[in-house]
Amino acid sequence: MVPFDELRELLTATGARVRNSVPLAELTTLRVGGPATVADCASTESLVATVRALDAAGIPLLLLAGGSNLLISDAGFDGVVVRIATERVEIGADRVVAEAGADWDAVVAATVDAGLGGLECLSGIPGSAGATPVQNVGAYGVEVEHLLRRVRLLDRASGEIRWVAPDELGFGYRTSMLKHSDRAVVLEVEFGLDPGGASAPLRYRELANALDAAEGTTRPAAQVREAVLRLRASKGMVLDPADHDTWSAGSFFTNPVVPEARVEQVRAAIADHVGDVTVPTYPAVDGVKFSAGWLIERAGFAKGFPGPDAPARLSTKHTLALTNRGAATAADLIGLAREVRDGVAERFGIRLEPEPVTVGVAL
Ligand SMILES: Cc1cc2nc3c(=O)[nH]c(=O)nc-3n(C[C@H](O)[C@H](O)[C@H](O)COP(=O)(O)OP(=O)(O)OC[C@H]3O[C@@H](n4cnc5c(N)ncnc54)[C@H](O)[C@@H]3O)c2cc1C
Repeated sequence: MVPFDELRELLTATGARVRNSVPLAELTTLRVGGPATVADCASTESLVATVRALDAAGIPLLLLAGGSNLLISDAGFDGVVVRIATERVEIGADRVVAEAGADWDAVVAATVDAGLGGLECLSGIPGSAGATPVQNVGAYGVEVEHLLRRVRLLDRASGEIRWVAPDELGFGYRTSMLKHSDRAVVLEVEFGLDPGGASAPLRYRELANALDAAEGTTRPAAQVREAVLRLRASKGMVLDPADHDTWSAGSFFTNPVVPEARVEQVRAAIADHVGDVTVPTYPAVDGVKFSAGWLIERAGFAKGFPGPDAPARLSTKHTLALTNRGAATAADLIGLAREVRDGVAERFGIRLEPEPVTVGVAL
């Protein structure tokens, strides 16, 4: 471990505020994670200088913004957590440009208030603007890859800073070439929006129904934002410090995509275990997407599993969220995640993969 004084010395000229032994549980929405040195970067210049200085010295770093998609070990992080605290947001006639650390929901709200349509289905998602390309954030039928115009990156290998087009980022379902990679830091993002204020087409049945609209039609962005926030809150998917169902990383598992050749086998395993039921599936690029929440529930893990006394439980509102009831450790959450993953695999032959990024722990 590099002594704190050496780290502070190394980062003096970067403009970062350097803090010793910060409990990372204070910086993550799961509220777990042991101590680490944290360098808070409030400007893009400071962020770039800090990452460059640490990379040049060969010191491991962890980028962290809202901490809403991270499960960090109880041992903390041996290196420097670079906290992205930049904030600037600029709204134009048909676009928004945000620095990486800008609060995502505030960005969405500002665009809707300015009469711009496009981002409203992504209302209420915690975290930062700069993290949205990392896992191609999506909800209610919209993913950021379709709205991003460009992303400003610091390439950590070459040190170069440049704007890149979305098609250079290898987007997929809840992934991109930036996820699980040390390749680049997102410094800014730019989204193209509808100046007429219409929402993106309503592709998600539950949302269309809530708005009394036909699937594929649009509505004013402000109406859609309100409906999305209501739906998300009913599932514990909007952060609320008083509600432990929201002490989570959102959906803990991605919806599994099963190759066409295996689909009948999976359907047969499901029919064997739960009777002849209609299994909800959705078309996907390389196969058929099953609902992870449905599989978890049918595998015997009900909302609130394993019960009120457990420090880590499934949310009582949504089977797909693993939650901290106040005193959970990362080890408790990993234990619960393994139990759920293995239960689903045993019954249905499908292996669920975690959506959050794990640091110092593995499933
Ligand atoms: C209640 C709740 C609901 C959620 N709902 C959704 C949802 O509907 N859809 C969805 O897609 N996600 C959802 N999430 C997950 C999460 O909010 C998103 O993934 C969000 O984009 C993470 O942003 P963050 O700033 O908190 O990232 P962090 O958790 O701080 O970081 C996540 C990962 O991105 C990396 N990273 C962060 N910033 C940068 C950067 N500037 N450059 C490069 N790498 C970076 C980090 O190193 C880390 O690996 C939800 C989470 C919660 C808690």
